[in-house]
Amino acid sequence: MGVVWPDNKRFGFTIIDDTDGATVAGVGEIYLFLRDLGITTTKSVWMFRGGEPFRQPGETCEDPHYLKWVLDLQQHGVEIGYHLATWSDSPRERSLAALDKFAELFGHPPITATNHSDCRENIYWGAARLGGVWRLGYNLATGFRFANRYRGHVEGDPYFWGDLCQERVRYVRNFVYSDMNTLKVCPMMPYHDPLRPFVRYWFASSEGSTVNLYNQCVTEQNQDRLEEEGGACIMYTHLAAGFFENGKINARFRTLMERLAKKPGWFVPAATLLGHLHAQRGGRVITDTERSALERRWLWEKLRYGRS
Ligand SMILES: [Zn+2]
Repeated sequence: MGVVWPDNKRFGFTIIDDTDGATVAGVGEIYLFLRDLGITTTKSVWMFRGGEPFRQPGETCEDPHYLKWVLDLQQHGVEIGYHLATWSDSPRERSLAALDKFAELFGHPPITATNHSDCRENIYWGAARLGGVWRLGYNLATGFRFANRYRGHVEGDPYFWGDLCQERVRYVRNFVYSDMNTLKVCPMMPYHDPLRPFVRYWFASSEGSTVNLYNQCVTEQNQDRLEEEGGACIMYTHLAAGFFENGKINARFRTLMERLAKKPGWFVPAATLLGHLHAQRGGRVITDTERSALERRWLWEKLRYGRS
């Protein structure tokens, strides 16, 4: 059944900007560009500076000029999302402090949250994203390196914060796919998975983790198809990954976004988009068949193309 979009819009579109590598100097211009186009999105943040070096440390809410900028984005309608406490592993105490700090700074707990890369406290990550034969396939393909690595959902573990996630976070991102129409691949989102109870509702995204992958996904052809299908696109990206270089916004990205913005799309943050789907569909419980189809497709794309 098709989604009815507000204001006679024909499809939904948003971007979730993973904060890896982001600085005000590096991504600020992109936000001004999107604002001018009337495209309002989600910007994830880290609350604290991390403990260990990381190849792409970005700015965090501990940097005053960055925090000021993030609060200004929020004033302009951008959703601030949660990207865990920081770029390095956080035991439970730091996750708790980060969630408290998030609510204090932004006025409410996070609506959307995303795991970060290799953080130990990632929730239902690595092999825990999958079940049965798909989990086995993943483990074999990755040499069992991620079989038990991620601990956010493991009760009693020093990295456990599942109960906090359940209490404070509404939507958590899981699978990422190559199709620009995220809703076509994952029509049940936002969904609850009884096998992963510490997440209230999951959602999927479309692959755009670097500027090249983003541009490959948001092509003219795919934009037109998204509109025809009346679908919803949640692009998952890192706006610090090549979108703005040598003082210029990537030319292809600019062209594609200017084209998309002229279409009758509903360009709202991920929280708003998911809230709308949730209200229309009532927050489905995923079935075993549906889950298996999502896992199979994701694993296939992962092994074939290295999707996140
Ligand atoms: Zn990240």
